[in-house]
Amino acid sequence: MGGMDLTYPPEAETFRKEIRTWLEDNLPEGWFDDGFKLEGEDRKRFNDEWVVKLFEGGWICATWPEEYGGRGLSIIESVVLNEEFARANAPMRADFFGDTLVGPTILQWGTEEQKKEFLPKILSGAISWCQGFSEPNSGSDLASLKTRAELDGDEWVINGQKVWTTQAQSADYIFLLARTDPDVAKHAGISYLLVPMQQDGVEVRPIVQPDGSGEFNEVFFDNVRAPKANVVGGVNNGWKVAMTTLGFERGSSATTSYRRFERELDITLDKARQNGKAAEPVTRQRLSRAWTKVQIMRVNGWRSLSAMLHETKDPGVLALGATNKMFWSEYHRDAMELAMDILGMDAQILSGGDSDEPAMPGLVRRRATRDYPVSPLQASFFFSRSETIWGGTAEIQRNIVGERVLGLPKEPKPDRPPAEATSA
Ligand SMILES: Cc1cc2nc3c(=O)[nH]c(=O)nc-3n(C[C@H](O)[C@H](O)[C@H](O)COP(=O)(O)OP(=O)(O)OC[C@H]3O[C@@H](n4cnc5c(N)ncnc54)[C@H](O)[C@@H]3O)c2cc1C
Repeated sequence: MGGMDLTYPPEAETFRKEIRTWLEDNLPEGWFDDGFKLEGEDRKRFNDEWVVKLFEGGWICATWPEEYGGRGLSIIESVVLNEEFARANAPMRADFFGDTLVGPTILQWGTEEQKKEFLPKILSGAISWCQGFSEPNSGSDLASLKTRAELDGDEWVINGQKVWTTQAQSADYIFLLARTDPDVAKHAGISYLLVPMQQDGVEVRPIVQPDGSGEFNEVFFDNVRAPKANVVGGVNNGWKVAMTTLGFERGSSATTSYRRFERELDITLDKARQNGKAAEPVTRQRLSRAWTKVQIMRVNGWRSLSAMLHETKDPGVLALGATNKMFWSEYHRDAMELAMDILGMDAQILSGGDSDEPAMPGLVRRRATRDYPVSPLQASFFFSRSETIWGGTAEIQRNIVGERVLGLPKEPKPDRPPAEATSA
């Protein structure tokens, strides 16, 4: 394999200067100073104003074509954009479902009318979304889903139940999978629908977690309606469209995603130095292993980017895509266990907003700090427990790597007998 050229083309560097200047001009004064903190009302005001500035600057979903409100950035420009935001520790808008999942899916599969109707509203934040894939008996085995949609004149009529639907309590729309043909093989009879949430027949029941928050929900559909035109990618073609969405959910921004892990590890290291745990041999080994994995993610990010730019078909690089979700989510689970071990008994104390840990704006999900006031590291620890589950569990990712990348025999299923053993 040849060496890797890590220099960016000159136009990317010109663009880098543009973003850097914009960030310096628009971030609050003192942002780059050591120990800078935004708290309470100031942070809230910053969060509100920042989204407006991002929108006006054209930085939200900046790779989308200009005709739908984006800036039409190239891959390399969007990498530079992410790198500069990460370097400045400046938050990007975190509308995961709209910006990252359904928006790019509509771009790829949607009709011209769907693109014109939905993309500008996603960009401006006018409509918010939730994802209706999982059902009580259909998580990993998603294709067995039972929610039905039937055509009645110009409308789909939807009946059934979804579960673990994050943000359903505040969403305007749900992108959901429903069975539109019960008489064909299970993958073949599914459609991907965009359904308004604010209507009779939609019932959202929050699932309250031990920390008092209720981020995800059960959603019940009783004769719920959606326009006939709101099917994405064609009737009964929903499985392929859903795989596109899951690809966006499992992937992540190639060269920058390691940075949030690096930053958390720096904070963990500081804690270990402060309380003396950095001198313990086993802790030192665990810390070095964590550091090594972060570096692997950094290098693999470059490999993925390079492969994308050169449209390479190198199977080693293609395998990276499949292993990525499993690698980062298992890394993060272990790294946060290490962080809690290093904090020791202090990990049990809920110091919430009074914690001396840096706030890590935009990098760590903020949890319900009122009912259960966790510090940023504790919040990350809790959330890391879910990362090996949502978007496809680590076990399912292993199946995908085994079957599609390594070419191993398919796993036995009730409707598929075990593959015959082959002699080498
Ligand atoms: C924080 C969080 C947010 C979520 N948000 C959403 C959302 O917004 N929208 C949505 O649609 N869903 C959401 N989900 C649901 C998520 O997609 C499912 O939890 C996930 O797909 C796993 O399905 P399941 O929970 O039914 O587990 P199951 O599929 O029942 O799996 C149980 C266990 O068995 C293992 N297993 C299952 N099948 C196999 C197999 N063939 N081989 C090996 N091991 C196997 C799994 O890995 C897992 O360990 C969310 C989940 C979490 C944790």
